[in-house]
Amino acid sequence: MDPTTAPAAALDAADPLAGFRDRFAVDDVPGAPLAYLDGNSLGRPPRRTLERLRHLHETGWAVDLIRGWDRWQHLPTEVGDALGAAVLGAAPGQVVVADSTSVLLFKALHAALALRPGRTRLVASAGDFPTDRYLVEAVAARSGGEVRWLRPDPAEGLGADEVVAAVDERTAAVLLSHVDYRSAALADLRAVTAGAHAAGAVVVWDLSHSAGAVPLALDADGVDLAVGCTYKYLCAGPGAPAFLFAAARHHEQLDNVVPGWFGADDVFAMAGEWVPAAGIRRMVSGTPPVPGLVAVDEGVRLVGEAGTDRIREKSVALTSRAVARLDTVARPHGWRLASPRDADRRGSHVVVGGPGAREVEQRMRARGVLADFRHPDLVRLGLSPLTTSFAELDAALDVVEAALGGSG
Ligand SMILES: *Cc1c(COP(=O)(O)O)cnc(C)c1O
Repeated sequence: MDPTTAPAAALDAADPLAGFRDRFAVDDVPGAPLAYLDGNSLGRPPRRTLERLRHLHETGWAVDLIRGWDRWQHLPTEVGDALGAAVLGAAPGQVVVADSTSVLLFKALHAALALRPGRTRLVASAGDFPTDRYLVEAVAARSGGEVRWLRPDPAEGLGADEVVAAVDERTAAVLLSHVDYRSAALADLRAVTAGAHAAGAVVVWDLSHSAGAVPLALDADGVDLAVGCTYKYLCAGPGAPAFLFAAARHHEQLDNVVPGWFGADDVFAMAGEWVPAAGIRRMVSGTPPVPGLVAVDEGVRLVGEAGTDRIREKSVALTSRAVARLDTVARPHGWRLASPRDADRRGSHVVVGGPGAREVEQRMRARGVLADFRHPDLVRLGLSPLTTSFAELDAALDVVEAALGGSG
C-alpha cells in the first residue's frame, strides 16, 4: 500500500503497530487535543507507566521506605542495559540512565577530551540544539581548547564528508546530533564515526531525536560515546532522566567530571576518597531519580516490543504521507519543505517553512493540533509511530491546510 495515496483507514487497519495506541492514555483523556504532533518533544504517557508510578509511590515509597533502595540503587545500570538491548544495539554494561541530557552531554564531552590527551579541539554543528552548542563551547573553554563550528545546510543537514574533512590531528572529539532537532536530517552515524576514528578522534553522538524512532547499532557501528533523551520517543515523561552510552573499550580511561558517591566503587562504604566503580556505573553521580527510571523502563519495554525496525517503517510511512500532502497544500502559499525529501535521510518529524509561520501554528493550536513553531519561520510536525495514527495525521493535515488558508 502506498502510504502517500492510500486512505488513512486502510493504512491504520494494516498497521502492525496500530494496537500500541490503546496502550497509551490518548483517546479517552478529557481535554485531549484533536491531534498531537509533538511526541518528539514530549511523548504521550503509556497507561502502564501511570500505573507503575502510582504503585511506586503508594507501595515502594510509602511502605518500603528506605528499604526500597536495596532495589532502586541498581536501576541506573539495569534500565541502562534494557535500553541498550531494545533501543541502542549495545551489549550490557555500557549504558547508564541518569541526570538530564544537558548534564550527561557535559560529562560525555569532558570524558571525550580526557580520552584524547594533547588534543584540544572539538568539532560541532552551529545548527545543533542550543544546549549542545552551549555545552561544547563551555567544555572547550574550561579545557583551554576551541570549537570548530560546522555550518549545515538548513534542510539537508551535514554530509559525512563535510564532518570528516573538519577532523584532524588536533581534534579530540566531534559532537553531533544523529537526527537534527530542526530539519530532521539524519546524519550518517557509521561513516562519521569511522572517519573521525581514522583521524584519531572520538565522537559523541546526541541521540535525543533518534532513540526510539530510528534503529541504532552502537556496538556494530563502533560508537564511542552517546547521550540522549528519554521523554521524547521513549515516552518516559516530563523531566525523565537521560542516558549515556560509553563503549566498554573506553571504560578504564573514562573520567567522570562530577564524581559523586553513586559512581564510587563501593557506594555505601562512605570511603574517604572517590575510587571509581569498575565499568559504566562510574558515570553516575548522585541519587538516582527513581520515578523517572521506572518510566524509562516501561517506555523501553514498549519500544522493544514494537521493535525499532517496525517503528522506523511506520515512521517513514507517516513522514512520507505528511511530505506529500504538504507539497500540495503548503506550496501554493509560498511554503517550502525544510526537511530532507529523501526518507532515508530523515528522522521522524517533518518541517515546513514559510510566511506567517507563527500565526499558522497558533491557528493550528486553536483548532486542537499541537505542533511546534521554530524560529524564524518553521512549523515542525513530530510523528510518533507508537501513538500517531494515519487518521490522526490526516485530521492534523486538514487543519494545517485550513490554517495556511487563513482560517482557524
Ligand atoms: C531535547 C534535546 C535535548 C534536551 O536536553 P535536556 O537537558 O533534557 O533539556 C538536548 N539535545 C538535543 C539534541 C535535544 O533534542
